[in-house]
Amino acid sequence: MSLATLLSTCFALFLGASGWSLAEYWIHRELGHNPKKLKNPFGKEHIAHHGKGNYFAPAWKKGGAALLATALLIGPAVWLAGPRLGVAFVGGFVGFYLTYELIHRLEHVFEGIGPYGRWARTHHFWHHFHNPRMNHGVTTPVWDHVFGTYEKPGVVEVPRKMAMQWLVDEESGEVHAHLRDRYALRGAPAKVLDSHAA
Ligand SMILES: [Zn+2]
Ligand SMILES: [Zn+2]
Repeated sequence: MSLATLLSTCFALFLGASGWSLAEYWIHRELGHNPKKLKNPFGKEHIAHHGKGNYFAPAWKKGGAALLATALLIGPAVWLAGPRLGVAFVGGFVGFYLTYELIHRLEHVFEGIGPYGRWARTHHFWHHFHNPRMNHGVTTPVWDHVFGTYEKPGVVEVPRKMAMQWLVDEESGEVHAHLRDRYALRGAPAKVLDSHAA
């Protein structure tokens, strides 16, 4: 493979991945949070995700979405750019879609590591618990900046009932000490049952 072939293939992959990140932003913003458009399959699932916190659409729907995106994109992409670049573009798009699904799930179930892990969680949970009209990007803030929906998260106040498992110390029922600079719990703690009460 020549260097030019390698570079152009990588560029097509990158364009595909960027295409997904833009789609991620618009699907979330328009199909997930535009009050006029909520009666769509993604919107219904997304309302349930916000309402319950730990709810995710079933895997078969995500697999179906990946297949549908491939089926819709592959023809036009190969027609426009030829088989190699067309397949690379669709591979980047669908590959990054699946990566997004993984990153989103991890944000909810795992504390995360490093600056990106910290950023992704405060950005996303600010969207969940403070301002669902802002911070629509789940994997990147780029499109929120471009389209004016970026809001810098402060301390994220998470309703106690919706608290992510990784946020709360099981024994004390409070936010882990090392996360208190970025998170707090909202609402009264559940009453401790007095075992001596009759
Ligand atoms: Zn979420
Ligand atoms: Zn949302």
